[in-house]
Order: sequence, then C-alpha cells, then structure tokens
Amino acid sequence: MKKDLFALKGTICYSKNQKELVFAENSYAVCENGLCAGVFSQLPEEYKDIPVKDMGDRLIIPGFTDLHLHAPQYAYRGTGMDLELLDWLNTITFPQEAKYADLSYAKKAYSIFVDDLKHSFTTRACIFATLHRPATELLMDMLEESGLATMVGKVNMDRNGAPELQEKSAQASAQDTRQWLEEIKGRYDHTYPILTPRFTPSCTDELMTELGKIQREYHLPVQSHLSENFGEIAWVKELCPTSRFYGDAYDMFGLFGTKPAFNTNEADFASASGLNTTDNTAAHISSDGASVCPTIMAHCVHSTDEEIQMIKDQGVYVAHCPESNTDIASGIAPVRRYLDMGLHVGLGTDVAGGFSLSMFRAMADAIQVSKLRWRLMDQTQAPVTLEEAFYMATIGGGSFFGKVGSFEKGYEFDAMILDDSNIRHPQEISTRDRLERLVYLSDDRNLVGKYVQGRKVI
Ligand SMILES: [Zn+2]
Repeated sequence: MKKDLFALKGTICYSKNQKELVFAENSYAVCENGLCAGVFSQLPEEYKDIPVKDMGDRLIIPGFTDLHLHAPQYAYRGTGMDLELLDWLNTITFPQEAKYADLSYAKKAYSIFVDDLKHSFTTRACIFATLHRPATELLMDMLEESGLATMVGKVNMDRNGAPELQEKSAQASAQDTRQWLEEIKGRYDHTYPILTPRFTPSCTDELMTELGKIQREYHLPVQSHLSENFGEIAWVKELCPTSRFYGDAYDMFGLFGTKPAFNTNEADFASASGLNTTDNTAAHISSDGASVCPTIMAHCVHSTDEEIQMIKDQGVYVAHCPESNTDIASGIAPVRRYLDMGLHVGLGTDVAGGFSLSMFRAMADAIQVSKLRWRLMDQTQAPVTLEEAFYMATIGGGSFFGKVGSFEKGYEFDAMILDDSNIRHPQEISTRDRLERLVYLSDDRNLVGKYVQGRKVI
C-alpha cells in the first residue's frame, strides 16, 4: 500500500498538557496516512526522503474543534443581541430556522456558512442543523465536500416551538430521524451524524424516550444544551417535575454520557439510571455493562453541584461558549472549577448566540470572562490561562472525535499554518507571544494552510 507521507516544517506549537505548551522552532511535523508520526528537530532516517513543505518561520498548530454551533443561525449572526435566551429563541431564532424548509434558501445560506467555516480556524465542529431532514442532508453533503471533519445533527423538537417550526408529534420526529440516519448511511467519510434534541423544553418525554432508543440502536453521540439561563432552568423544573436537576432530565432517558459498568442486574440498573420503565432497558447496557452515550452539553453556566458531579462521573463534555453567554446575558460558566475537577471541556462559538466563527476569538473570550468571574464573583477561582484556553480549543474539544488536537504520535493529523507577519512589531518576541497575539489580533488573513486527517483543505 502506498503511504501518504509528508512533513510540514516551521515553528510548531501544541499542548503538552492543560498547563504547558510545547514550542519547536525549525522542526518537522510528520504526517503518515492521516496520522501524526511525531515532531522532530531533524528528520529521522526513515523519513529523510519524504516531501517536506517548508513554511519558514510560520506557526504550525493543531486544528481547533468548535464543540458547539448552529449552522442555520450563521445567516443572522451579529444581530438581535438585545434579548435573553427564551425571548431570543421565540423572536429571532425560530422564525429564521423555519426558512430552512425551503431547500433553495437552505442552499444559499449553507453555502455561505460552509465556505466561511472552511476558511476559519476550525478543522472540526459539532453542528446543529434544523429539524428539516432534506436541508440537514444538504448541509452534510456540503461539509463533506469542504474537507472538514464534522458531526451534524438534525434537530428534534416536538413542543414549545413556533407554528412554523415544530415537528407534528414525537413519533413523527423519531420517524424522520430514523429516515435521516438510513438515508445517510455509508454516504460520508468524515461527516458524522449526532443525535440532537434541541433542549428539554423542546422535547416531550415521549420524544426523549424514542431518542434514547435511537441512540442505543445506532450507537450515536448526543449533543444538546444545559443550564444556560435562569428562566430556562426554572422552565425545565416545571416541565420535568420528577427530574432532580436539569441534567437529570436527559439522564432519565439515557441521553447523558456514559454510565459506568454495573455489576448488578437490570432492575437495579433501571432504578439507578432513573428509568422507571422496563422498556428496552437491556439494550441500554453494553457487553461490559456500561451504557455508552458520548454526550456534549453546551453552556453549563448555572449547573448545580449534583449536576456537575454527574457530568464528571458520566464523562459528559462541556462546550464552553463564553461569547454567546455574554451576548444573550446568560452568565459566566465556572470553567476554572471544571478544568480543576478534570471535566472534559472544549470551546464553542455557539453561532449565532455568539457572533464570530473564530476559535481564537473563543479563546480570548474564555480568558476574558474568566477574569471578570474572578474579579466580580469568586476570587478563589483563578482566571483561565493562555495554555488552558489553547488546550480547550485543541485537545479539550478534539478528544470528542478521538485522538485529535495534538501533534503527538498517533493523533489524527489536523494542522493549521499561520502567517502572523501582518501583526507587526519592532522588537524581538517569543513564540509564545506570537501565539498570544494571534489569540487577540488574528483574522482570516493569518490562516494560510489547513489540513484535516492529513487532507489538505486550504
Ligand atoms: Zn446552542
């Protein structure tokens, strides 16, 4: 088999861990069949004849994973920023998303979104589409064509939508979801489906039960929203009076991360999981006794201690979306606490609660809001550092896709080449300073090359 083998040469930078960055000037990142073979200051003997793309002094960093954004909302980004979540959804978002029933509008809007995402600092993304199956498939076709690696969800919502944006019933929603999954089977190499109940207020218990079944049948990951806004949290309590906290309203249906293996019997499992039905319980459990449901929950701004513990115990990923949390005045998530507890935390732009697709901007926002939280709310919780923000943007979110977000051997080869020569300075500066400046000062001009899974995308 012919090997796809090449090296990028330049100033290489990636996370060693949450607290430390590795800087390797004049070094080589080797890509072998889509995987990183390592970073070397001199090419080892076995690689000495491989093609080398010399990037000079440019920075070479792993790609960023945008762990949470809404493709249909990109069309109106930067507008309607004067409302809180529930009013914002009803007044702006739902009427806008309803337009994707029209495939010609969807084509126009998604072409712009996909083109801009392709040319952004994002190599991977977990994306909400709308409830419309044809438009969701069109978006997936376009993303596959772009070369990016993405997870895309047809949204489920059978209550509290708008007359023009709501599925007819739980059964209709589930049926349409199954049809979507069947239609895309085998169609893509690097575009994956992800189950997407919009959030608890949008989904009846009957629909959640159906989605739990679909998750177990198709072994799908799940994405949704959690504890974003006070009004939303109070509403969930009303809608799901038996839930102990918001996250429990997902967990009751087996849609909240991977439960550890149980040594007990099915009945014990059912009671422990909060399922008060025997329906399909056995299928909930994998051969080693674990219930496997990789899950991303966006926001977690106001999660209770109990909810945070369940997020940790069940390996749920937190998509921290600081720009959106600021724009629609949701609050400031306690990310210092999440990082110190060892939770999986990635960054999301949450377009169009957030207005910018830039993951560098998401890093800057994460650092800035953490300083406000420290100053105004809790001085025991130190602000987020550059190293931590970079980690969240690369490995933090990337690990949801597997070994993604680093140049260590065995990671998938996602790389960005950054030319920062337009950010001028008269003095000598360190590589770390160059990276930090890109966090605050970059724009599209700084991105001059992008690889995903070893594929050249731009
Ligand atoms: Zn969102």
